[in-house]
Amino acid sequence: MPELPEVETIVRGLRSRIVGTTIEGATVRLARMAIPPAHASFDRAIGGELVTGVTRRGKYVVVRLGSGRSVVTSLRMTGRLVVARRGAPEHPATHLVLHLAGDAELRFSDVRTFGRMRLVEPDYAWDALLGVEPLSADFTPQALAGMLAERTTPIKVLLLDQRRIAGIGNIYACEALWEARIRPSRPARALTKPAVTRLHGAIVDVLQRAIASRGTSVDDYVDAEGRRGSFQNALAVYGRAGQPCRRCVKGRIVRILLGQRGTWWCRRCQR
Ligand SMILES: [Zn+2]
Repeated sequence: MPELPEVETIVRGLRSRIVGTTIEGATVRLARMAIPPAHASFDRAIGGELVTGVTRRGKYVVVRLGSGRSVVTSLRMTGRLVVARRGAPEHPATHLVLHLAGDAELRFSDVRTFGRMRLVEPDYAWDALLGVEPLSADFTPQALAGMLAERTTPIKVLLLDQRRIAGIGNIYACEALWEARIRPSRPARALTKPAVTRLHGAIVDVLQRAIASRGTSVDDYVDAEGRRGSFQNALAVYGRAGQPCRRCVKGRIVRILLGQRGTWWCRRCQR
């Protein structure tokens, strides 16, 4: 599932390819993946728009348009946004295509079909419920401490709450907690001040390293050019059940369920 580093990688790829291009129209093959739904309404709404920028908010790709509107895409489980030449072989689950001037297409494919591409009016605060961006100046150890205070929720479950911190999903929550040597099931309020500071640093560090590796491809994720990332080779715990801990060596990585999500950690060095 694409998280902040994967979405950031896609956004950077799109930025260099589609900014300054006009969207000539859209083909919607699966109505529910477009908002407004159905081919005719989405095509009519978006045709003729100039792409003025591409940004990221949490796990959302935001394509800014000349009219002030935006196209906001959530990739959810298996969504892909890939720029390709018209006529080039396409992913079998391509459900929505934006036709760009020249001979390019922005293809939105999604095997599970939970993803959505939504046209948003300029004055609509679609992201009002999203929390702080973890790579912004607003995300400080003090801000993180404020989120955890008085909360009995397991720290790992809280890290996944997009209303508090936007962009962290299962992979990077597990990795950041390992890096900070914190047990994922620990009640948020039980973290000491040094632990909160370690966790803050670990979140920023793991996200930045993953972006530098162009994301983690353990499932369907590819970037805007259709290439896989490489951070899967650097994962410390995620998906490594039964394998030795890369830090304490004697510990083995275990997988437990926390808030119904698979959670990987080292029983020996995460306290
Ligand atoms: Zn360990």
